Amino acid sequence: EELLNVPADPAEEKFEEQIRPSKLEDFAGQQKLTDNLRVFIAAARKRGEALDHVLFSGPPGLGKTTLAHIIASEMGGGIKITSGPLLDKPGNLAGVLTSLQRGDVLFIDEIHRLTPAVEEYLYSAMEDYRIDILLDSGPSARTVQLRLEPFTLVGATTRAGLLTSPLRARFGISNRLDYYPPELLERIIVRTSAILGIGIAEEAAFEIARRSRGTPRIANRLLKRARDFAQVAESDTITRSLARRTLSALEIDEDGLDDMDKKIMNALLEKFSGGPVGIGSLAVSVGEEQDTIEEVYEPYLIQTGFIARTPRGRVATKQAYLKFRGTLPGNEGP
Ligand code: ADP
Repeated sequence: EELLNVPADPAEEKFEEQIRPSKLEDFAGQQKLTDNLRVFIAAARKRGEALDHVLFSGPPGLGKTTLAHIIASEMGGGIKITSGPLLDKPGNLAGVLTSLQRGDVLFIDEIHRLTPAVEEYLYSAMEDYRIDILLDSGPSARTVQLRLEPFTLVGATTRAGLLTSPLRARFGISNRLDYYPPELLERIIVRTSAILGIGIAEEAAFEIARRSRGTPRIANRLLKRARDFAQVAESDTITRSLARRTLSALEIDEDGLDDMDKKIMNALLEKFSGGPVGIGSLAVSVGEEQDTIEEVYEPYLIQTGFIARTPRGRVATKQAYLKFRGTLPGNEGP
C-alpha cells in the first residue's frame, strides 16, 4: 500500500530491484554502519566463517532489505527472504533453515512479529546452527536434532523496542538506520535517474530530495512520478518546475508532509487542543492503524519537530502551531 511505504505490487518490487544498490560502495550514507560492516565482513571472510547475525532497525524504506542483499553478495552467499508474519509455524521456519547453504543470509523482515514458539526455535539455530524437530505426537513423540549449515541471520524491524531481550541478545551486530539528509537523497535520486535513463536538473533533484521524508524509497518513488510528468511534457530532463508540479499534484507540501501527516497534525491541534493525547486516540481520530502511525508517521513528525513526546502523551510543538495555525498557542484570538 502506498501509504505504508512498502513495495505494493510485483511491478513496484521489480522497480525496487532494478534500482537497489548491490555493493556497499553504492549504498549512500549511514557511514558509520557501512564502515563497521565492511570490517566485520572482511574479518569473517578471512576466517572463512559466516558473518555474525545482524539486526537492522528503523523506519521503513531506509535500506534494511538492501543491506541484507549487500551482505549476502559481499559474503559471496545466497539470500532467502521471509518475514515474521509469514513464519507463523515452527515447521515453516524449519523448512527455511534446512534449505540454507553454507554462508547464506536468511533475511527476516518484521522480526518483532515472530510468535513466541517460532522465536524459541530460532534461538538454537542462531546459537549453535542446530534445531530440534518434534516427530509424531502422543506416546511416540520424540525429538531429533538437525544440524544446519553456518548461516547469517539478518533481522529487520521497524520497532526495535518490541524485540524480546533473548532474541536481541543473539545478534552480534545491531544497527539503527536514521533518516537521510537531503544531500544524500539527492545523490540517490541522481543515481536512480541515470538507471531510469532520464535527465534531471540539480535543483530538481534537490527539490525532490528535501521533500522525501528523509527516506530513499520515497525519493525514488517521487522521482518515478516526476519522470511521468517529464515524459508527458515531452522533456528528456526533469526540470525544477516539473519536479514542483509533480510534488504539488501529489499533495506533498513544502516540508514533505502528505495528506495523512496533515490529518494527524490537524487532529492533534484541533480535536485535542494541542495535546497531550495518547497515540491510540490520535489513531482512532484519523482512522489509521495505531502501528502505522507509530512506525511511519510519528517518527518523521517528531524528527521534523512538529510533534513532541511527553510522559503524558503527544503534544504539538510551537513549530506546529506556526506552520498550521500561523500563530503561537494562546494567540489565536477569540
Ligand atoms: P527497508 O528494508 O528499510 O524498508 P529497502 O532496503 O527496501 O528499505 O529500501 C527501499 C528502496 O530504497 C530500495 O529500492 C533501495 O533502492 C533504496 N535505498 C535504500 N537505502 C538506500 C541507500 N542508502 N542508497 C541508495 N538507495 C537506497
